[in-house]
Amino acid sequence: MNRPQRFVRILLCCSLGIGLCTNAWAVETVPGGLYLHPLAEGIVRAEYLNVPVLIVNSVAVVGIPLSAQTGEHELLLRYADDTVETRHFHVSAKQYPEQRLTIDNPRMVNPNSQDLERIRVESAQMREQYIRFSPLQHSLAPFVKPVDGVTSSPFGRRRILNDQPRNPHSGLDIAATTGTPIKAPTPAEVSLTGNFFFNGNTVFLDHGGGLITMYCHMSEITVHAGDKVDRGTTIGLVGATGRATGPHLHWSVSLNGHRVDPVQLLELFPND
Ligand SMILES: [Zn+2]
Repeated sequence: MNRPQRFVRILLCCSLGIGLCTNAWAVETVPGGLYLHPLAEGIVRAEYLNVPVLIVNSVAVVGIPLSAQTGEHELLLRYADDTVETRHFHVSAKQYPEQRLTIDNPRMVNPNSQDLERIRVESAQMREQYIRFSPLQHSLAPFVKPVDGVTSSPFGRRRILNDQPRNPHSGLDIAATTGTPIKAPTPAEVSLTGNFFFNGNTVFLDHGGGLITMYCHMSEITVHAGDKVDRGTTIGLVGATGRATGPHLHWSVSLNGHRVDPVQLLELFPND
């Protein structure tokens, strides 16, 4: 990284109020990563791909989709008097590794027509969750890992199930024994709970500012939609419901409607 970029990073992490400036250096402007943009005075909203983005202490925190093309991208900045400015930023390439998995239940790889209808309805419900944008009411820092455990599958892996290429892994898998409590990483409102075909028992948390997190494969859900949770509140227990090869937490983090690497948020708002 060259000197001007380093300088911007230092300014950014100090304005984000995070303790160790070095932590913000881990932010990667790649597909599935983040772009940080300090906002000049008077800017009330920033938009990426026509969607408002999270603003923390006058810094726009932009989630970049895994499907993003590398090259120049546009951030729209809107002032209180409705004048707009455009800023460009560069999304670099990232080659995520490949993962081959064998699933014993063939219906979980090639669902039947009834399953497909259920999946269609559930996908629409999930899309609705990801486009939520409620006001940011609490500090996001620290953003705490929901389960202590080993990463069994990182974000972004290109997955091949029973020799069939599938969508890349849009979350982080943390291995833990069945019944391990899953904790909210930062305050939130529980926006949806349910049992989903692939994801099993699932909880969505709305943290405000377009930051939505999802927790899957739970053996038990211990919250209800509408509940307010604090950082560290147990929202459910680790399990292997839905399409899972063993007990683990699949944890997704979404910003401005796009799944990003949860590690990027842990790095940006560290627990120190
Ligand atoms: Zn997963």
